[in-house]
Amino acid sequence: MPALAVLSLSGCMGVFADDRSSISLGSHVRGALLHPVALPFEGPGYEVHPDWRPRDCRYATEEVARWLADVFREVVDRFPDSIAFLGDISGRRGGDVAMHRSHASGRDVDVFYYACDDAGRPLRDLPAMLHFGRDGRAERWSLGRGGRGPKQPVPQARFDARRNWALVRAMLSTPGAEVQWIFVHHALAALMLAEAERQGTDPAIIGRARVLLHQPTNSQPHDDHMHVRLFCDPADRPLGCNDKGPVRWLKKHWKYMRVSQASALRL
Ligand SMILES: [Zn+2]
Repeated sequence: MPALAVLSLSGCMGVFADDRSSISLGSHVRGALLHPVALPFEGPGYEVHPDWRPRDCRYATEEVARWLADVFREVVDRFPDSIAFLGDISGRRGGDVAMHRSHASGRDVDVFYYACDDAGRPLRDLPAMLHFGRDGRAERWSLGRGGRGPKQPVPQARFDARRNWALVRAMLSTPGAEVQWIFVHHALAALMLAEAERQGTDPAIIGRARVLLHQPTNSQPHDDHMHVRLFCDPADRPLGCNDKGPVRWLKKHWKYMRVSQASALRL
């Protein structure tokens, strides 16, 4: 017999059979995570950066974890030597995460930008995130807690538009989770969109990317990493998952996501 659990958050209450499946609760700012999945430190096409591992912020909903693994696999299938460094997702129970205002409910993901040398070869073993300038050149190390950065000089590196676009494209075409935003610096978004045009990517995907690649106005410009925010899984909404922000133009998608009127009103 499954145990019954009573859930109460932000005025939402429900009774459900606790089958140990994951639930994202609340919003990306004030939220929690029940029965999450821990992303393995390494998988096809990605690894949690060694400096991020002790933070233990690699927990997500089942849907986001599966989707993320599929996304990285898609990129490495396309570019066999692509290993993305993963930063923070959420803590084991969700809630506040040091150095973040969001990441509270298993639906925010930080990914280092892929970097390459001038010949297009991927640069691995980077000790920290790199800040990239408007022209895509690596300018300086991103500083961690206490304002400290790596001692070694910044390498001759540039923003790897091919791989970064492959990642965005995979995020926008992999089923299982729905992207709400991809926070990136606008100049780096432009480099990826130019790459997409150059490749002759499906205009529908480019159109979505133009909307979803977004430089936030109320936080850092995201010139050193990509921050992806996923919508609540439809099954989590009636249980208290709360999407903040716009319901956009994806009418069909939104219809298929079965958003309830009650949760739509909270947006
Ligand atoms: Zn983030």
